[in-house]
Amino acid sequence: MNRLGIMGGTFDPIHYGHLVAAEMARAEFKLSKVLFIPTGTPPHKDRKDISAAEMRYEMVKLAIQDNPAFDISRVEIEKEGPSYTVETLRVLRRDWPEYELYFITGSDALLEIFSWREAEEIFRLIQYIGAARPGFDASDFFLKVQHEHPETQGKIHYLEVPALAISSTDIRARVRRGEPIRYLLPESVRLYLEQHRLYADS
Ligand code: ATP
Ligand code: MG
Repeated sequence: MNRLGIMGGTFDPIHYGHLVAAEMARAEFKLSKVLFIPTGTPPHKDRKDISAAEMRYEMVKLAIQDNPAFDISRVEIEKEGPSYTVETLRVLRRDWPEYELYFITGSDALLEIFSWREAEEIFRLIQYIGAARPGFDASDFFLKVQHEHPETQGKIHYLEVPALAISSTDIRARVRRGEPIRYLLPESVRLYLEQHRLYADS
């Protein structure tokens, strides 16, 4: 069966941490494609100053254009009101009937999933891949989660990736402080946010 990778995020901005996780997941789990899904109005982010969805979408597009296995979806940014992952996954389940769904996050995000709407249903729809993220040791934690949440048994996969201590929060702070961000994200994205003066005076 074909496998579709799903990489959701605010992507404000997208950076090499996201891209490395997606590419390593693609290779390791033999995913035919990885779909990047920028969030619309994220229900779990408290930041009030998230960049416009179309700008985040544009930056993802620039970042993935040289990888034929990467694609982007507007499913969340076109939805009115908050997007819940379980609803997005139901849409993908319907639109990609021939594919097994592999939901990719940084390993820091696994705990969050259990606070999301219909968490148990999410694990009925997907296989989960948690990519290593610096500052977060996940292997024991993943075992514990599968023990405590039986619906996740055999569906949680830990992925060792070259660790990149890069976050969008740090990139935004660097821009604000006038510090360099080159090599933390694709040059096309850096030029885009410079051109649109993103983060400079937020
Ligand atoms: P912010 O600092 O604004 O929260 P972020 O860098 O965490 O941004 P998100 O858009 O929140 O990026 O993350 C989207 C997904 O990518 C999440 O599943 C997150 O865990 C994962 N991710 C982000 N950065 C990395 C990284 N450096 N390595 C591995 N996974 C990452
Ligand atoms: Mg984050």
